[in-house]
Amino acid sequence: MFTALEGCSVVVTGGSKGIGKGIARVFARAGANVLVAARDEETLAATAAELGRETGGRIATVSADVSRTQDCARIAETAMAELGGIDVLCANAGIFPDKPFAQLTEEDVDTVFNCNVKGTMFMVQAALPALEASGRGRVVLTSSITGPLTGFPGWSHYGASKAAQLGFLRTVAIELAPSRITVNAVLPGNVATEGLDELGEDYRAGMEAAIPQHRLGSVEDIGYAALFLATEEAGYITGQTIVVDGGQVLPESPAALEGI
Ligand code: NAP
Repeated sequence: MFTALEGCSVVVTGGSKGIGKGIARVFARAGANVLVAARDEETLAATAAELGRETGGRIATVSADVSRTQDCARIAETAMAELGGIDVLCANAGIFPDKPFAQLTEEDVDTVFNCNVKGTMFMVQAALPALEASGRGRVVLTSSITGPLTGFPGWSHYGASKAAQLGFLRTVAIELAPSRITVNAVLPGNVATEGLDELGEDYRAGMEAAIPQHRLGSVEDIGYAALFLATEEAGYITGQTIVVDGGQVLPESPAALEGI
């Protein structure tokens, strides 16, 4: 049995939709006080109302863009004001626009890196004083299998950004260890989200066929991994990654899935 996370303070960036919303839901169900950060105020308000109704918890919100350093600071300030601190930071906000490598512009790369890499790094930095004060701070990054473990045409910049998050995590985990802060990452495979829906039915069907469990992940599948990494009992795990992908990275070739 794990020690309850009831009453702990959790910040989820990109928590208004998709995986972040699933993470926020799982923590709220566990009795945590949750602050959800994202840019669009209407979606934030709808998500807070939905999760509040569903879990009986109070979900605080802040409209902020993690690719702006000053917004990261504002998210941390709001957590102090609304939750009284930060025990767990789920740095999940990320974007995945696709474009063939040959057509990529500097602006395309900057946009993805500003959100996925700089947004992660400066969010963690902004939360540091609160995580240190917690005495059991936990950082859980949402990376991806794409980049760290696999590739997919159209996502060279995205894959590079998701791998960069892990380079960051391995050093920062060492630097923050003396403050009893752990830093780990969840690497989702293909998860059923609003964002993924936009890629179309063909993409979804192709992905389901390539996953040994023949289903996309649910947003809660990722939330449970984040919840585990946030527990008291996971306190000796730092600088590590957990792949949550239904076995997607395992087949050596399509032949490995024949008859499966
Ligand atoms: P999603 O459904 O598009 O949701 C993205 C969330 O992040 C939304 O709440 C969005 O709200 C917020 N967001 C985007 N840019 C932001 C910014 N600059 N500042 C603050 N919030 C921002 O995406 P998702 O599929 O859940 O992806 C979430 C994370 O999981 C990403 O890091 C992604 O790389 C990773 N991931 C996803 C999958 C998958 O299969 N879906 C697989 C592997 C990894 P606003 O637009 O209102 O800001």
